[in-house]
Amino acid sequence: MPRPISATVHAEALRQNLARMRRATPDARVWGIVKANAYGHGIERVFEGLRAADGFALLDLQEAERVRALGWRGAILLLEGVFETRDLELCSRLNLWHVVHCDDQIDMLAIHKTHQPHRVFLKMNSGMNRLGFAPARFRAAWTRLQALPQVDEISLMTHFSDADGERGIAHQLRAFHEVTHDLPGERSLANSAAALRHGDDAAVRADWIRPGIGVYGSAPDYPEHDISHWGLQPTLTLASRIIGVQQLAPGDTVGYGSSFTADGPLRIGVVACGYADGYPRHCTTGTPVLVDGVHGRLVGRGSMDMLTVDLTPVPEAQIGSAVTLWGHGPKGAVLPIDEVARAAGTVAYELMCAVAARVPFNTSE
Ligand SMILES: *Cc1c(COP(=O)(O)O)cnc(C)c1O
Repeated sequence: MPRPISATVHAEALRQNLARMRRATPDARVWGIVKANAYGHGIERVFEGLRAADGFALLDLQEAERVRALGWRGAILLLEGVFETRDLELCSRLNLWHVVHCDDQIDMLAIHKTHQPHRVFLKMNSGMNRLGFAPARFRAAWTRLQALPQVDEISLMTHFSDADGERGIAHQLRAFHEVTHDLPGERSLANSAAALRHGDDAAVRADWIRPGIGVYGSAPDYPEHDISHWGLQPTLTLASRIIGVQQLAPGDTVGYGSSFTADGPLRIGVVACGYADGYPRHCTTGTPVLVDGVHGRLVGRGSMDMLTVDLTPVPEAQIGSAVTLWGHGPKGAVLPIDEVARAAGTVAYELMCAVAARVPFNTSE
């Protein structure tokens, strides 16, 4: 028997989360964001659930080829554009739309030979200072692109740094509007947080939204709001089983470093899941977990292949009992990945992307 750990991707949850994003942003079209192998879920595994998207957005040309290989003939957007001139040949061949965020990419387009002009998304750096043209240089870039025979339609985009937090998006929205208000073309601004929190504002939802994390069942502004507040469902479950049980006496310790000491008699379960499966080592005593669908907690520090859980809430638990590290558990129980990420001092994005190659994946409806 293989080690009893597995990950499951839930197609129906993806479908419902995508529909939830649409309801938050009436009339906007939706990019299904499948970069980083669909936030660790696997592009091929999420494709059915995200079929209703208006397009797929990603970073990697190989990922674009995989989406085309699935039979997708609709729009695909390269979120960082091309990295070298010959990437444009594949863009032409696969009919990809691509971001243009710097002058080098315009130079590459200018020497590219194509019969079919490209649709591009010109990106403004409205304050995040990652990719994009500064507002003062944006119109010059637009004018240059407009003059190229290699370019068909020019759409406009920017990305928010604080849509999930206190600073908000108003300053970036203003910078974007000031420079672009009289330019033609479609617009795309909103990530999941902006779509959920500001989707009622037509200037924010614009023509295309770009929701990633919300579609994957994490609340973008957790812990201010959780997935039940936003009406989202987990799309990824990490599950395993108890492979050992220990009865501790008062004063007994657990695991490497003896970071946990029992203050009374305590029954613990040893679970086949560790940091070599992608479960964060920073999760220690108190991290939530489900045993047979009952909410409980980790005790002690997890190791490479195992972690330990307090069995007090489930006295009937034994070797073979089901453990849910995050996602959907037995009996309708849910453990949002956001709660585990918080216990690890990180965000759900990182946990999703980190599930290790040795963990077998399933898909379910
Ligand atoms: C990843 C990404 C998104 C999606 O962001 P979420 O916070 O996951 O919704 C949107 N736009 C761009 C440019 C991205 O790189």
